[in-house]
Amino acid sequence: MAEQTSQSISISRHAFSYQPPAIQGDFQGKHIISVDQFQRADLDILFQAATAIRERIRTQDRGLTELCAGKVMASLFFEASTRTDMSFQAAMRRLGGDVIAVSNGVRFSSMYKGENLSDTIRATGCYADVIVLRHPEIGSSYEAGYYLDLLNQRIDNPTVAISGGDGIGEHPTQALLDIFTIYDQKQALDKLTITLVGDLKHGRTVHSLAKLIANYAAAEVRLCLVAPASLRMPSAITDLVKSHQITVIETDNLLDVIEETDVIYWTRIQEERFGERAAYERIKDRFIMTPRMLKLAKADAILMHPLPRKHEMGTREDHDILDADPRSIYFEQMENGMYVRMALLVKVLRGVYV
Ligand code: ASP
Repeated sequence: MAEQTSQSISISRHAFSYQPPAIQGDFQGKHIISVDQFQRADLDILFQAATAIRERIRTQDRGLTELCAGKVMASLFFEASTRTDMSFQAAMRRLGGDVIAVSNGVRFSSMYKGENLSDTIRATGCYADVIVLRHPEIGSSYEAGYYLDLLNQRIDNPTVAISGGDGIGEHPTQALLDIFTIYDQKQALDKLTITLVGDLKHGRTVHSLAKLIANYAAAEVRLCLVAPASLRMPSAITDLVKSHQITVIETDNLLDVIEETDVIYWTRIQEERFGERAAYERIKDRFIMTPRMLKLAKADAILMHPLPRKHEMGTREDHDILDADPRSIYFEQMENGMYVRMALLVKVLRGVYV
């Protein structure tokens, strides 16, 4: 078993059609599958709840542990994760809920006996109130939503799915924490130039973030997409962003836009998504954020990264210098991940907050 990896899971997927429900101000019982579900008013509700939860944690408010007391969250991660998995687990525990996972990790789940995802999801749905799913295949969280809806018609205790990353598709909760962090740092989203850099083709965080920025519909936002030609943002996403009256600038040269940028969102080249090693090797050093590069940015710019980082932020010495720069806010971004996920868990499980 030890040598098995997530790639060895076999997926047997039947045709299904599933559209995640729009939030429209009411989160309760809704699967969180795509940022398409969120409009500005929903995000404002979430920002308010995350801010309040952060304050309550800072003041050591013990009442937080009543918010999800008696609820159970299942963590089903078929791909590597540090931040998403741990921040969800921490979020649930801080809300007084419990967390379950397959003993010794999903490599020991029945999917490795050949069970299909829809059965694994429904088994988990029989035991948990909420399932956080990360899976290497695009569409996996849609499948979870579809089959949980079928299961929920038959069991007493309905279960909600939250995507923790859907192959190269979307990473909705990362985008929620990212947009919250931008809002929190800049006190608004209007009149910002936001620059996404790196592997915009395979990076699910940038797919979700670009769409969410469009859905927020702030005024006078410019979105700069900096990537080599082979790793450009999918055109379906750029077209959607443009349809929201956002100016989109695409370039493969960061120098074209860095001096104008308010938010720099750096990303890792997604090595594990390249079919061919040589293709990764050719491209991997194209965008490196170094202290020298950051010198060119505005004094009040912010530097974000969903993490993990590798050499795209230079050497370990470069990391230390970048980390010490007050414009680097990826640690705050990580911390916000827990507050936003707490807000989301309370909203989907309880409907209300406070
Ligand atoms: N942690 C993020 C993700 O799961 C970003 C990354 O892996 O590069 O997509």
